[in-house]
Amino acid sequence: MTDVLASAERVLRDGIGLTEPELRAVLDVDDDSLPRLLDLAHRVRRRWCGPGVEIEGIVSVKTGGCPEDCHFCSQSGRFDSPVRSAWLDIPNLVTAAEQTAATGATEFCIVAAVRGPDDRLMRQVRAAVRAIREAVDINISCSLGILTPDQAAELAEIGVHRYNHNLETARSYFPSVVTTHTWEERWQTLQLVRAAGMEVCCGGILGMGESLDQRAEFAAQLADLDPDEVPLNFLDPRPGTPFADLPLVSVAEALRAAAMFRLALPRAILRFAGGREITLGDAGTRDALRGGVNGLIVGNYLTTLGRDPAADLALLAELGEPVRRSELQALSQAL
Ligand code: SF4
Repeated sequence: MTDVLASAERVLRDGIGLTEPELRAVLDVDDDSLPRLLDLAHRVRRRWCGPGVEIEGIVSVKTGGCPEDCHFCSQSGRFDSPVRSAWLDIPNLVTAAEQTAATGATEFCIVAAVRGPDDRLMRQVRAAVRAIREAVDINISCSLGILTPDQAAELAEIGVHRYNHNLETARSYFPSVVTTHTWEERWQTLQLVRAAGMEVCCGGILGMGESLDQRAEFAAQLADLDPDEVPLNFLDPRPGTPFADLPLVSVAEALRAAAMFRLALPRAILRFAGGREITLGDAGTRDALRGGVNGLIVGNYLTTLGRDPAADLALLAELGEPVRRSELQALSQAL
C-alpha cells in the first residue's frame, strides 16, 4: 500500500498518470486503505481538473435492433432481449435537450444503436443538431458508432462538440465481448474524431468477466488514447443478453476501479454512467465523487432508469461540488 500511495502522490505532484503495473497495484488496495486511496484520487482530480462536476443528459434517437453483438447490450438485434426498436423525431429531441439543459447539464448526447450511421441517420442528426442549437444553449455530443472520415468531418462541421465511442474493455478481452467488429475499428474511429476536431469521449464497462490485469490494461490503453472524457459504466446484466447472469461489481471494487482510472487519467472528465445506481447506490456515488469522479449522467440511461436529476443535484450541493458550466452557458448568461 505504501508504494501505491507514493505513486499516487507522484500523480498529484506531476499530473502524469501511473504505468500499467502501478495501476494494477491500485486494484489490490485493501478495504482498510481504500479511504486513503479515494482521498488521493480526489485530490488528484481537484488539482488537475479543478472543482466542479460536469453533468450530461443522453437521449436515444434510434433504439434497439442493432446488427452488432456486444454481449452486454440489450439493444443488439441478435439477442432475445425485451428492448424494442424505436426512432425519435426532431421535436422530441429538442424537448429532451431542453429538459437536460434545465438540470444544469452542459452536454447533451444523441445516441443511436447502430454499427455506424447510414444516410438516413446522418440526415436526422443533421436536422436535430440544427434544431437544438437554435433552441437550447447546450453542447451537443453524438454517439453513432463507427464513422467514416467524411462522417467525422461532417459532424465536426455541423457543430458536434464531442463524440463518444467506447472501447468498452481491454484490447485483450474485447473478442470475448464483441465478435462483429474489432477493438481496432473502434480505435480508428476515435482517431478520426480527434483529427476532425471534436473532443474524444471514450470509456467502457467494468464487470464483464475481465480480470483485474485486464482492467489495468484497459486503463493504460485509455491513457494512451488520452480522451477528454471517460464514461465509466458497471455492468447491469440485462435479461436475454449473453452477460445476463454475471454478478455485479462490488462497491469496494467499483471504488478502487474509479480511483485507478483517475490515477491513469489525471486530467480527464471521469463520468459515472450506466450501472451506477445498481452497483454503488447513494453511499457509493457519494464516495466516488470524493474519490476521483467528476462527471455524472443525469436522468435515464438508454435502456435502464437512472436517478431523479434533483437527487443528484442535491447530492452535489451537499458535497459542495459546483455544477460545471460550459463556455456557451457562461457566454449566454453574460449577454
Ligand atoms: S453497444 Fe452499440 S454497437 Fe454494440 S450492440 Fe449495443 S448498440 Fe450495437
